[in-house]
Amino acid sequence: MAKLIDGKVISAAVKNEVATEVAALKEKGVTPGLAVIIVGEDPASKVYVANKEKACEQLGMASFKYALPENTTENELLELINKLNNDSSVNGILCQLPLPRHLNEELIINSIIPEKDVDAFHPQNVGKIMIGNYDFLPCTPAGIMEMLKYENIEIEGKECVVIGRSNIVGKPMSMLLLHKNGTVTVCHSRTKNLKDVCRRADILVAAVGRANFVTADMVKPGAVVIDVGINRLENGKLCGDVNFAEVEPVASYITPVPGGVGPMTIATLMKNTLTAAKKQNNI
Ligand code: NDP
Repeated sequence: MAKLIDGKVISAAVKNEVATEVAALKEKGVTPGLAVIIVGEDPASKVYVANKEKACEQLGMASFKYALPENTTENELLELINKLNNDSSVNGILCQLPLPRHLNEELIINSIIPEKDVDAFHPQNVGKIMIGNYDFLPCTPAGIMEMLKYENIEIEGKECVVIGRSNIVGKPMSMLLLHKNGTVTVCHSRTKNLKDVCRRADILVAAVGRANFVTADMVKPGAVVIDVGINRLENGKLCGDVNFAEVEPVASYITPVPGGVGPMTIATLMKNTLTAAKKQNNI
């Protein structure tokens, strides 16, 4: 039976540290502020944005929400980002993805100044992650690294397999594991013999976006299994990329969905906003 890696407990510990630092900053007259932009009515995005606002409030940070209509033009969005880039009460800016199709995601992401890019999606920040000298850690992968650290799970020399190569999760995840001296394999939809590759993993990270994709026969006995996926089933329930019931008896550690990686992503976002506020105020 695997040990459950509890994202709620670990994220609470991270958030506590952030809250203490926020309180100290406030005594110096600085309140970290996060601006969150959401365009359109995507229900999942609305939930994520609400959770981010709630976290800011819990930790004593300022949050500025901009809920824009679906038909917002690129120019209108760029104008808002430009305004926020120049607003000293805003230390972090994020634009909730996905954006409606008529908006060029790359253009929008690149218009957020790197110093306020708390999602770490700007090419300058991505480049820094690649080199291993970063200001902001990408939120989901960094949250996962925090979980591994909290559980004292050794990465050095371990076979790490990441399923998924997105810019948001898979690629930066593989970089962070590499920086900690893991031997990293990145899999994707064209990978051959996926099952065999996954079975080599001491640490298996699933970021596919397909419910119950990772089955017991893909997992080496005793592996650490990290489930990034958030999939909504027809019955409305949330479900990960890992078939939890099957895999849990085989793994040594496993993250649940919900209550695993998700809360860690938000905790890292808060940490990044704090870092941004400190840097922008030379603290
Ligand atoms: P993307 O859709 O951008 O990427 C999915 C990746 O999975 C792609 O690289 C794709 O390969 C790969 N893939 C798809 N099908 C297969 C297959 N049959 N075999 C092997 N690989 C496959 O998703 P994201 O990375 O943005 O997100 C992944 C999941 O994580 C989603 O469920 C998302 O909701 C969740 N998520 C959760 C977060 C959290 O905080 N917990 C944060 C961000 C995301 P290819 O590149 O070849 O197409």
